[in-house]
Amino acid sequence: MGNPVHRSPGSVSKSLASWLFFSVFLFMTSVLAAGGLPMLVPGHDDPAESSINVLEHAEFLRDPSGRLGVDQVTALAEAGTAFAPLESDHLRKGFSSDVFWLNFSLTRNDPETERLFLVAWPPFIDRIDLFTEVNGAYRRVQQAGDHVPVGERAMPVPETVFPVVVGPDPVSYLLRVETRSVVSLSLELKNEERLVGEGVARWIRHGVFLGMSLTAMLLAVLAAIWLRQSVFVIAAAYLFCFFGFQFLVNGNDQLFLYPDRPWLSDRLLGAFTCAAAGLMAWFVTSYLESETHFPRLTKVLQGLAVVTGVGVVISLFGGYHLIAPGVLALIFLILVAMLGLFVGMIPQARVRALAMLVMFLPAMAAAFFQILHSTGWLGSSLQACQLWDMAALAQMPFAAVAILIRVSEAQQGLARAAGYRLLVENQVDLVVKVDPDGRFQFVSRSYCETFGKSAEELIGSKFAPLVHEEDVEATLKAFRATLAPPFVSYVEQRAWTVKGWRWLGWSDTAVLDDAGRPEAVIGVGRDVTDRVKAENALSRSRRQLEMALDVARIGCYSIDTKSGTITADERCVTLLGHDPDNFSLDWPAWKALLHPDDRERVIHLTEARILAQGEAMEMEYRIRHRDGGWRWWLDRVTSANAVDEKHRMLGLVQDITERKRALQQLEFLVRHDELTGLFNRRGIAQIARHQLAQAHRAGLPCCFAIADLDRFKRVNDTWGHEVGDRVLKHVAECLRTAIRSGDWVGRWGGEEFLLVLPQTPLEEAREALERVRQAVADAVLEVDGAELAMTISIGVAAAGPVDLAPDSVIVRADASLYAAKQGGRNQVVADYPARLAGSTVPAD
Ligand code: GH3
Ligand code: MG
Ligand code: MG
Repeated sequence: MGNPVHRSPGSVSKSLASWLFFSVFLFMTSVLAAGGLPMLVPGHDDPAESSINVLEHAEFLRDPSGRLGVDQVTALAEAGTAFAPLESDHLRKGFSSDVFWLNFSLTRNDPETERLFLVAWPPFIDRIDLFTEVNGAYRRVQQAGDHVPVGERAMPVPETVFPVVVGPDPVSYLLRVETRSVVSLSLELKNEERLVGEGVARWIRHGVFLGMSLTAMLLAVLAAIWLRQSVFVIAAAYLFCFFGFQFLVNGNDQLFLYPDRPWLSDRLLGAFTCAAAGLMAWFVTSYLESETHFPRLTKVLQGLAVVTGVGVVISLFGGYHLIAPGVLALIFLILVAMLGLFVGMIPQARVRALAMLVMFLPAMAAAFFQILHSTGWLGSSLQACQLWDMAALAQMPFAAVAILIRVSEAQQGLARAAGYRLLVENQVDLVVKVDPDGRFQFVSRSYCETFGKSAEELIGSKFAPLVHEEDVEATLKAFRATLAPPFVSYVEQRAWTVKGWRWLGWSDTAVLDDAGRPEAVIGVGRDVTDRVKAENALSRSRRQLEMALDVARIGCYSIDTKSGTITADERCVTLLGHDPDNFSLDWPAWKALLHPDDRERVIHLTEARILAQGEAMEMEYRIRHRDGGWRWWLDRVTSANAVDEKHRMLGLVQDITERKRALQQLEFLVRHDELTGLFNRRGIAQIARHQLAQAHRAGLPCCFAIADLDRFKRVNDTWGHEVGDRVLKHVAECLRTAIRSGDWVGRWGGEEFLLVLPQTPLEEAREALERVRQAVADAVLEVDGAELAMTISIGVAAAGPVDLAPDSVIVRADASLYAAKQGGRNQVVADYPARLAGSTVPAD
């Protein structure tokens, strides 16, 4: 590949960090689920200490308006009518902030050593004022409660505990309790040091809790920022809501509630806790919904979210100590849980999430109404929220497990993604992700480098401008094809890269969403310029070759010497006038079409030498054309010369019929006279030599004769040269037909003819020539209506044993001719003595 390999940084430390974070998260979740850290704080079960339930000994007066002053209450107490004994061990709350007055007196066993502390439980008491009778008048001696600033409280302890100051026994007390909670009160004999120690231990416990919560939240936030995963954001929010509100609600009022903000009440916070916990469950549920792996866990979480939401509603109207609202709440809860499960079956994730949100609207409304309760517009109940705190708590392990699984998946996904990223980033191939509108969503590094652009420049822009205008249409067509089944396509296009125009081959595949619609297209591209160029060059040279073969009328065939099969191409078939679609030229068909004269030779050469021995070969033969005629083929066979084609030979056949014909004509012209069609001097001389040689070999006689037209000059002079030519042709024809078969005649000179008479003794020759002379003399040529008779004179000589070449014999024949001319022409003279030759020939 040649490219450097890039690693994605920090993957190992990130996975460690997330595991560390979730270990801490799980630890704290389990500790808190087990009830916090009370076991870490030493208890105070000293048997020496004792407790008196004030409520069992007190008289009780209710003041719904809260307007009664201590003097009025004293007057009512003295009247003895308004106060009544309490039937239970706690003050029952009303639906609004109530004020109760308690009237009791105490006598100590040992006024010197015993100290009394008033302990109120639970600690959600707005205010307690203790009045004692001094000199016949009641004066306030202590105050405590939510609405009492910490600095004014008697002791720095979270519970409503304060020392009771007593005068001489018995002492009468008036206690004013302002509360919206169920309250029990007791007077305890306590060791003061021990009490303070307990308070400090609680402070420490709360400090540890708070520290853990904050640390976990901080970790979650850090993880969310660093790892950029929504799951950590959810975890951080969950921790924040759960831990934070658990503190605020579960009896830590003196630490976290502020008297100057009375609306920040326990009920508001309780409802808020439930709503938050429920919402968190909903968030986790929605988060998990994208995964099909955890349908059951998702449903459980959805159910819990619903339950928690219902808890918010119930916290408005009832508490666990009120049977009827509790039962109603349970029925309501079951109904809503069923509804929640039903909602969970909605297949579309978005609709489902929306439905869940709608179901939480009552919870949000409840939180709103809770504000109204807190401001006194509506009554409220205490502690219902605690039940739903438990529900929220129950969600914790589920949420933790779910988140843990998700994180482990996310880690695996991260590792996978890092692996894929490595692959993609180091690909030579170009990788892009494009939305259905053709805009880049992702471009690989190789793509950026190829086009000399940055990912920021490309992402969001359309790919088409980079494509050659001639290829845009094909590219878009392929892209559109990708958006429909089978969602894949391939296209080759020219694109403008840093190296100029390059051919890129793109394999596109669509990414489908849950509904099966394409949401993006992944394209993998490769530079195929070299291949395309090579292909173009190849097809060009192939085209040229084909053209050359067509023009040269050459057919190709291949021979498999192993199997002995011959496969001819279309051209071979068309050379023979057949239709390639209906005719196949295999070896048997080939053999059948061969000319009978050539068949044996060609079959032998092909089978014995080409097929059997793989021998290269060149041969000419005739083969039958569809029109019934014969065509000359020049057939050249050679080995294919390819490494993987040892058994293959190539044959080229060329139709050489025309050439063959021209050659034959040329050969004819070389040896024949154009005017008369007889052999010319070269032709007849060759025959003369050949026949003489044969005669010598066979010991047979052979005669040569020279025939000359008589007074031919006159013909020329009288009739013209053209007529002379006609006469020449006429005489030549007479000679040709008049000679015996086996005899030869050729034009020897202007109007002289050489006749070769093989196997003929001189006398016989003379007789034969006499007939020839007579034939010429008898043939009359018609010229312009007149009859023209021509005669010839012939001199003949026989070859003797010494005549190794025809020349000497011809000289003798010439001499005889001369004699014939002298003798009066139109006659045959045989073997006239040569010595007489050369004397004058009589003129006409
Ligand atoms: P003789 O009987 O003595 O042979 O008389 P002749 O007139 O035939 O005399 P000779 O053989 O010497 O004449 C040859 C003449 O033939 C000369 C030339 O004009 C004529 N001749 C030769 N070749 C051709 C030819 O190809 N065409 C024509 N028209 N005339 C030719
Ligand atoms: Mg002559
Ligand atoms: Mg002549």
